[in-house]
Amino acid sequence: MEQKTVDEMLAWQSGVRLEAVAEKLRARGFEAEVCATREAARERVIALAADAASVGFGGSLSVACLNLTRELREAGKEILNHGFPNLSPEEKLEIMRRQQVCDLFLSSANALTDEGVIVNVDGNGNRVAATLFGPRRVVYVIGRNKVVTGGVHAALARVAAVAGPVNAHRLGKRTPCAATGKCADCAGACPESICRIATIVRQRPSCTPTTVLLVNEDLGL
Ligand code: SF4
Repeated sequence: MEQKTVDEMLAWQSGVRLEAVAEKLRARGFEAEVCATREAARERVIALAADAASVGFGGSLSVACLNLTRELREAGKEILNHGFPNLSPEEKLEIMRRQQVCDLFLSSANALTDEGVIVNVDGNGNRVAATLFGPRRVVYVIGRNKVVTGGVHAALARVAAVAGPVNAHRLGKRTPCAATGKCADCAGACPESICRIATIVRQRPSCTPTTVLLVNEDLGL
């Protein structure tokens, strides 16, 4: 029998786990696929965007890892990304509004339970709002590092331990966590908190076709 490397064996294990999560997501009404690599996920997003005239980017690092912008733009799509450089605050706000009615909206999740529940925490709300209603299709790109065991409690704990502090630091926010790396549960007390809204998606929103691409790599925060 051919000897596998440690990385190959670990990828096998996480792949099996992602297939099980995909089954749970399908039972909750989502279309769910496991992509072995980020390149495979990239190809799926390009295919899913074939009929879209406009593509919204919610600000996800996982999606940014796929380097989609150039190819989508060359295919004639309108790119709605408020993270592009040199935009005024008014221009960013207008793009965030238009993301809400784009043809295809791309997001990740801050955490995904192994029962198929998608958990996000947001500050502006544009990202989570567009995943719920408005766009003609939503595509989540979720790396294996986002999957947690232990339900919504574990998902929110992941946000507090990793996604919240590191994103606050990345965005240059004046929050306790951006300085210490640890969540101080500042929502409600801090003007720059990025944790104002939490969404717990237990089943596909009824008016929104939604595809979840589970990537067998670590992606994003
Ligand atoms: S609640 Fe506040 S301190 Fe905690 S992760 Fe969010 S922004 Fe940081």
